[in-house]
Amino acid sequence: MNNSELQALKERYVAAGAASPNEQFAAYASNAEVWDADGKRMIDFAGGIGVLNVGHRHPKVVAAVKAQLDQLMHTCQTVMPYEGYVRVAQKLSEISPVRGHAKVMLANSGAEALENAVKIARAATGRTNIICFDGGYHGRTFMTMAMNGKVKPYQGDFGPMPGTVFRAPYPVDYHGVSEEEALRGLQMTLRTDADPANTAAIFIEPILGEGGFYAASPAFLKAIREICDEHGILMIVDEVQSGFGRSGKMFAIEHSGVEPDMMTMAKSMGDGMPISAIVGTDKLMDSSGPNSLGGTYTGSPVSCAAVLAVMDIFETEDILGAANRLGDKLATRFAIWQEKFEFVDNSRSVGAMAAFELVTDKASREPRADLAAAITAKAKENGLILLACGMHGNSIRFLMPVTIEDEVLEEGLAIIDKALSELTV
Ligand code: PMP
Repeated sequence: MNNSELQALKERYVAAGAASPNEQFAAYASNAEVWDADGKRMIDFAGGIGVLNVGHRHPKVVAAVKAQLDQLMHTCQTVMPYEGYVRVAQKLSEISPVRGHAKVMLANSGAEALENAVKIARAATGRTNIICFDGGYHGRTFMTMAMNGKVKPYQGDFGPMPGTVFRAPYPVDYHGVSEEEALRGLQMTLRTDADPANTAAIFIEPILGEGGFYAASPAFLKAIREICDEHGILMIVDEVQSGFGRSGKMFAIEHSGVEPDMMTMAKSMGDGMPISAIVGTDKLMDSSGPNSLGGTYTGSPVSCAAVLAVMDIFETEDILGAANRLGDKLATRFAIWQEKFEFVDNSRSVGAMAAFELVTDKASREPRADLAAAITAKAKENGLILLACGMHGNSIRFLMPVTIEDEVLEEGLAIIDKALSELTV
């Protein structure tokens, strides 16, 4: 079927709140390119929202998934466990920088990982409340909707939200929230709203994903670690978007040297197969009773096969080196754009987790979501999938596979260059 036939089906049969606004239907993909149902090629700078750090359909992942399909697709691991689950658990335990020996629970999506992290944190501490950050994004289930910094569009008409979530400011200097101010805000939230003695965990993205690719400094993350230690609160790091090499290290928290109590991860760990994980120190992970965690599909054997292949790719193909090289190329190009265009500012990158902002001008720093929308629309017209993000919706973020071929990268960047040049402010 072609795009317009599929569009007609979508309009008739797909729930409005879940229907993609995009009228191009993906039909085939390879590394950093996607072809739509009409055969039009698109360069993919979105990577399925951070899922494809090692590229669309990496051959090793495809081979591993195919081999697994010939062996075992499902038993429900609580009914009968299988090798893939325990091997993924072992790998994640080995590579995750949590304090002490780590144990692992697998789930299907980022939101589900966060939900389970909350459950485990409550079971382990006997406390109720949790603290999250402005600009944070954690998912679309009830608890995670309540945890998101941004209310619209996620909370929609779905309220009431679970009422045990409290929020603190995330440090974004460029928009006037200094680190000191953010820490003061956190202390205030803790003492006046959440109550240190009844706070189970502080959840933080070391680099905001949906919230705008702003990185918390090592000092800020260390301060949170200290606050957590002072009050017996768990520090839980959400690496769903920043993990698996995006930041040039396996996990973004590694840039700070801070050891969290628990981590959540998903997206690029399965190269497109749905899977997520909660990794935490074993005392925490063992704190809830038998059969208290899990679900029918959690850690599917097919998804586990994909994760093991991804881990092998990281061990053999210098993905972290590729992420850092890509990040350098992006930073160089951003610097040129920032110099050339008054409305491009605050370009930033940690490894390949890179973004810049569109503003009215550098003096006012007034966020311009309309300009970001104009750029992504222009990019789409010219064959490039590009995503905006941020608390103000005015950042352009880069989530292409770190394995992107140089020519494809250059072609994509040239499309952005043209879109920026043609922009009327
Ligand atoms: N946490 C973070 C940091 C995310 O970026 C996302 C997804 N954008 C989620 C959680 C939710 O993941 P999922 O969409 O797989 O539920």
